[in-house]
Amino acid sequence: MPCVPVSFSSEPASGRQIVGILAATVVMAAGSVAGFLDRGEVLAQAPVAAPMFLSLIFVTGCLSAYLLRTQFRLTGLPSLAILSTAYLFSGVLSLATLLALPESAGGADWLGGAPDSALWLWIFWHGGFAALVLLFSAVHWGWDRKVVDREAADRWNGALTLLTLGAVALLVLLATLGRAALPGIPLDARGAPVLPLWPLGGPLVGLTALALAAALTATRSSTLGNLALCLSLVANFLSVALFGAGAPRFSPGWYAAWFDGLISSASVLMVFMHELTWLYLRLNDLNATLQRLTFLDELTGLANRRQFAQRLEAEWARAVRERRPIGLIMLDIDYFKQFNDRYGHPAGDACLRRIARTVAAAIRRPTDLAARYGGEEFVVILPDTDEEGALHVARAIGEAVRRLGMRHESSEPFGVVTVSQGVAVRHPDVGDSPEHLLFAADQALYAAKTAGRNQLKMAA
Ligand code: GH3
Ligand code: MG
Ligand code: MG
Repeated sequence: MPCVPVSFSSEPASGRQIVGILAATVVMAAGSVAGFLDRGEVLAQAPVAAPMFLSLIFVTGCLSAYLLRTQFRLTGLPSLAILSTAYLFSGVLSLATLLALPESAGGADWLGGAPDSALWLWIFWHGGFAALVLLFSAVHWGWDRKVVDREAADRWNGALTLLTLGAVALLVLLATLGRAALPGIPLDARGAPVLPLWPLGGPLVGLTALALAAALTATRSSTLGNLALCLSLVANFLSVALFGAGAPRFSPGWYAAWFDGLISSASVLMVFMHELTWLYLRLNDLNATLQRLTFLDELTGLANRRQFAQRLEAEWARAVRERRPIGLIMLDIDYFKQFNDRYGHPAGDACLRRIARTVAAAIRRPTDLAARYGGEEFVVILPDTDEEGALHVARAIGEAVRRLGMRHESSEPFGVVTVSQGVAVRHPDVGDSPEHLLFAADQALYAAKTAGRNQLKMAA
């Protein structure tokens, strides 16, 4: 079965996130309604406000579009390509609106349009955005299981970007050079539209409401992505409704409308930022797990055989270079099969863990390494340790195990869990190999077993 990767945050939203997004929506809606009711009042005039909001909307909209494109490439879900196009269209047209706005350049009109060119661009922007959201909702609702592969997604992305930029260029031309072909919008002396509702305001608010309703219907599961999208579209609706209802410049409603517009283009981006942080954390955890699985023994937490082999190789090379001795202890639990038979495997596992802890506690130097060699066998590498030192550590381990006093009624001679140990020490030379050390320790262990167990033997 083909695996559909996680899409634009398909992570289910947590309770806290749902409450947070709902609270943000309520606060924003309340602020917008208050702004609407107060629309007759004029606040401090900040000519920088509209250009500032438009710049932010441009940046956040384009970033959202870019990140949605990468999500489309990752998931192959066509609805994400359309949603990305909606944000790109919105972002680029916000830039065009910014350039056409009289206050952007101290009265200069960079696009060389008519006084209401910026307003027309704003209408195209929100009309197009609503239309694309409707298309997104339809595709998401009916056709989103169709997965596009990565090469095809790259082609789609390229084509959609060109198409969007081409459409924006045409609309800019229409709003500036072709302005005469568009119906007039009555403007006041400051170049603001005469309101409450200029002719296109009603249909535009209606279209935006329809897009919101369609998206709410199409994205019913409460994933983080869906919730952020709904927040974005609610904010977009409030912004369009406030402007459409004729919030005059510098009135509370006008400021609120710009703020809503910014929330609309930034909320999807915030999900990506959240996801990025979350991915870093997960990556860290996975890395730690990978390290653990690669180098540690699952049952006992000691080094595993792979780590043992690597360390033995490295310590051996160091011993050759520094002309120092190296010791190795091989340790095997006595009558462990009978222990399992008598007390069961879970008890056997618990015993292995206790022995592992005991062995690990008996070694002191940071360069020493205790590892599980396999089954009920353990090994200890003792770099820079001579015969006397290695015997000392082995005796300490044997004594510590006996002192644990773990009952083992099937161990006839001892009645408690004991271990046999083979100890080997070499003063390695070039041409010698760590396998010799391992072999010698293994032989010594065998000798300890045949001599009656619960003891240690030194390799000859
Ligand atoms: P000896 O004194 O000669 O070492 O006898 P023994 O029974 O300890 O040795 P043998 O090699 O015959 O048996 C080893 C047993 O260790 C076999 C198996 O029951 C047990 N064993 C190996 N790995 C595990 C493990 O991961 N968990 C548990 N519970 N038992 C294990
Ligand atoms: Mg064994
Ligand atoms: Mg054994």
